[in-house]
Amino acid sequence: MANYIGFGATAADKPLSQLTFTRRDVGGDDVKIDILFCGVCHSDLHFVRNEWHNAVYPAVPGHEIVGRVAAVGANVRDFNVGDHVGVGCIVDSCRTCPSCREGLEQYCEVGMTGTYGGTDKVIGGQTFGGYSNSIVVDRGYVLKIPAGMNLASTAPLLCAGITMYSPLRHWKAGPGKKVGIIGLGGLGHMGVKLSHAMGAGTALFTTSASKVEDGHRLGADLVILSKSTDQMAQHARSFDLIIDTVAAEHDLSPYFNLLKRDAVMVQVGAPERPLPINVFPLILQRRHFAGSCIGGIAETQEMLDFCAAKNIAADVEVIPIQKINEAYARMLKSDVKYRFSIDMASLQA
Ligand code: NAP
Ligand code: ZN
Repeated sequence: MANYIGFGATAADKPLSQLTFTRRDVGGDDVKIDILFCGVCHSDLHFVRNEWHNAVYPAVPGHEIVGRVAAVGANVRDFNVGDHVGVGCIVDSCRTCPSCREGLEQYCEVGMTGTYGGTDKVIGGQTFGGYSNSIVVDRGYVLKIPAGMNLASTAPLLCAGITMYSPLRHWKAGPGKKVGIIGLGGLGHMGVKLSHAMGAGTALFTTSASKVEDGHRLGADLVILSKSTDQMAQHARSFDLIIDTVAAEHDLSPYFNLLKRDAVMVQVGAPERPLPINVFPLILQRRHFAGSCIGGIAETQEMLDFCAAKNIAADVEVIPIQKINEAYARMLKSDVKYRFSIDMASLQA
């Protein structure tokens, strides 16, 4: 085991600060990655503040990791020292259950190992995330970053990008479909870009009048202010798919009414408390309400290659790690354009 430095919290009510922790040594199948950039996901905040009641402390978050390979184990053939690589939310899974066999490691029936807050399969103890100098990950859970991609703005694709790409593909967003994305934050802005790139008619629902122009710039054909009942009513029964990225409590019923018969609303935003659901708009038009969790390793690679081909990446504000507590406060005010990406060179021993 070796020592690493990072930023994390020692309790739910404590700000993040610099700390030291251990990771396993580089095993035969492992890749050691020096972290260059790490995106800041709202899940990081939910986790360190124990809003999902599953935190372990000290909690070092970060699962939108881009870095450079620093060392590889004896069995590793497909990565070389110096390669640019990525790590998302998953660093291991059982590899044998039906979901893992289908490449859907995020739905592993034994439970995937999260990049942070999981249990290290080799040495036990908890996993620590990407707000740190380096990480050791099994080769099967490492992604290749296509040449030429901007690393700071590619990092958020590892969670925000794949979390939107997967349901857009699963529910067949594309030409002739009308897709809605709720919330213009980290996930939402990737959803707008990806849906537009897949050829779907794309609408953004936002609570922020100040984001209307950006919504169009990012690829939305329509921007709907969700607080305006008039604007919402104009789109009744017209959507094939709506994906909800909102991280806080809110009323879903107005969106159900915008779906066509048999159409689907997919929840990816994960608020702390359960959301009340009015079942009548679902019953009366046989509408579906579904969830979706990030994406598997193969699909994450497909998403990265798609983004490289279409010249898509996140809109980022690059910050030093020392600004992370300020960044969390701004994220809670929906004041991020549209993802913080931590420049890990700012982390000094
Ligand atoms: P974020 O950057 O904070 O964006 C959330 C957006 O939701 C805000 O920008 C805001 O957009 C809107 N919003 C915030 N509060 C609202 C409220 N009270 N009512 C209505 N809209 C509100 O967060 P994120 O990183 O995109 O993450 C979003 C959620 O997805 C989090 O709960 C996160 O944990 C979850 N997540 C889930 C998965 C998964 O696999 N399912 C993966 C990653 C993250 P407007 O200003 O445009 O309204
Ligand atoms: Zn995330």
